[in-house]
Amino acid sequence: MRYAIIADIHSNLAAFAAVLNDIERRGGVEEIWCLGDIVGYGPDPHRCIELLRQHKNVSVAGNHDRAAAGQLSTAEFNPDAAAAVRWTAPHLTPEDFEYLKNLPMVIEKGDFTLVHGSPREPIWEYLLSISAARENLVYFKTRYCLVGHSHVPLVIEEMEAGQVFFKQFPPDIELKVGQNRLLINPGGVGQPRDGDPRASYAIYDGEAGTVVHHRVPYVISATQARMREFDLPEYLVTRLEYGY
Ligand code: ZN
Repeated sequence: MRYAIIADIHSNLAAFAAVLNDIERRGGVEEIWCLGDIVGYGPDPHRCIELLRQHKNVSVAGNHDRAAAGQLSTAEFNPDAAAAVRWTAPHLTPEDFEYLKNLPMVIEKGDFTLVHGSPREPIWEYLLSISAARENLVYFKTRYCLVGHSHVPLVIEEMEAGQVFFKQFPPDIELKVGQNRLLINPGGVGQPRDGDPRASYAIYDGEAGTVVHHRVPYVISATQARMREFDLPEYLVTRLEYGY
């Protein structure tokens, strides 16, 4: 079985649709595993939720999903993110609202634990340092853990001797999953932050035992035009074309 691993769609319909097309072009998947932040920042929260729900999927909650559903204060958000949350909430249907409210924080799927931020702090923690990664290894029981939130594709591996390494996760190279425990971030669909503006996601192939990270071009200007139409913060608009 093959599974698509996606994170941080952030209401970017053009990016999300391009990723779904790419998944189909590669032969499709059994199920989509979504690591949260379906909404926030971008111009199409309702249509992104609707499109995700048209596909077989499981999804955990991200901080933006929780905030848009009114379950998390935006006090800890930066001003642009908070403005995007305030814009998002009234653009959700009552069904969207219920859907976001009921997303779980943690899902286990076979050998994988799915969370948005980290297994220790599923909503808020960014896994971007070796010390944070090492501390988090005791917070999940499965062999592998999938995280989003930083919008940066990366692989953290615990070696047999206990050392923890950050590894690059370049696109289109097969990452073999084996005995060693791994934390994997597929990068962000709707707002990549690793300097590559193309949408980012990964496919796990259970038979082959591989995870491959893919990059997908999309019409960034289409998303930007809609964001400007709704007067979303200009910083959020321009960052899409630079991938930061
Ligand atoms: Zn995010």
